[in-house]
Amino acid sequence: QKAEWALLKNAETVTADGKHFELAANIGTPKDVAGVVDNGGEAVGLYRTEFLYMESNDFPTEDEQYEAYKAVLEGMNGKPVVVRTMDIGGDKELPYFDLPHEMNPFLGYRALRISISEEGNQMFRTQLRALLRASVHGKLRIMFPMVALLNEFRKAKAVFEEEKANLKAEGVAVSDDIQVGIMIEIPAAAMIADRFAKEVDFFSIGTNDLIQYTMAADRMNEQVSYLYQPYNPSILRLIKNVIDAAHKEGKWAGMCGEMAGDQTAVPLLVGMGLDEFSMSATSILKTRSLMKRLDTNKMKELADKALTECDTMEEVVALVDEYVG
Ligand code: PEP
Ligand code: MG
Repeated sequence: QKAEWALLKNAETVTADGKHFELAANIGTPKDVAGVVDNGGEAVGLYRTEFLYMESNDFPTEDEQYEAYKAVLEGMNGKPVVVRTMDIGGDKELPYFDLPHEMNPFLGYRALRISISEEGNQMFRTQLRALLRASVHGKLRIMFPMVALLNEFRKAKAVFEEEKANLKAEGVAVSDDIQVGIMIEIPAAAMIADRFAKEVDFFSIGTNDLIQYTMAADRMNEQVSYLYQPYNPSILRLIKNVIDAAHKEGKWAGMCGEMAGDQTAVPLLVGMGLDEFSMSATSILKTRSLMKRLDTNKMKELADKALTECDTMEEVVALVDEYVG
């Protein structure tokens, strides 16, 4: 099996009927890029930039961030790199940034909510400037985490455009070809994905949070872990809604939560037409091998059945077994 995977390292990701899907990797630091290349990753689908902030004793400077982003873009050698703007808050605290103590940090002041607030504004601009400057070194895509409202996206996008114009006025070279998208990890955004799809360049579904917020079950709490159900029809319907909404506007939809590399979920996601799958680098070859065995028409039938005929997660799992074996 390992030998088969090794052969797939430089192969295209295609299904049995010749359809291509993009297999990307999630990374936390520039050091992770070597593993992505080693495992035949076609892109970085999620660069979690908060490690830059967490490993530092103070806010990382524009130059420090520029160097990190440049290293990742160059390491990927022209392949797409989706960088997520900082996702601080929730369980991720910074010793040098005094966030208020909250009863429900996962429902509180975090991620883009900080970035578009007055106090987070400077930090956000610094990150965007570093990203814009690095954009000439590869194929950069930017995405915002924890978006619930269209207006949150519009505000963040406006800051991006402002900083882009500022840099250009300063005579700094920036790419004019940077896609700007959002993560879908809040059910409200998944429900109105059709509205978002008119304004964003792409979606990346963050199922770790999307499942937590849809089920109202803390992703870290073992006592409610039975509610953590990626294959539950409720989650599948949200995902389908997001993918269809993207395609209707000619945009692409990816996934960067754990579910994207889950071998039971992959056949369903192929059937629903997900375009990009971003996972830990070590899952890429296994997934490429699985996709080679799948027929997209058959998987579409599987997904349709799961969405319309299944009552429970268990029924969905049994159906996948029946179709994929
Ligand atoms: C997610 O929520 O699915 C996600 C990819 O982001 P994180 O795991 O960093 O919250
Ligand atoms: Mg998340």
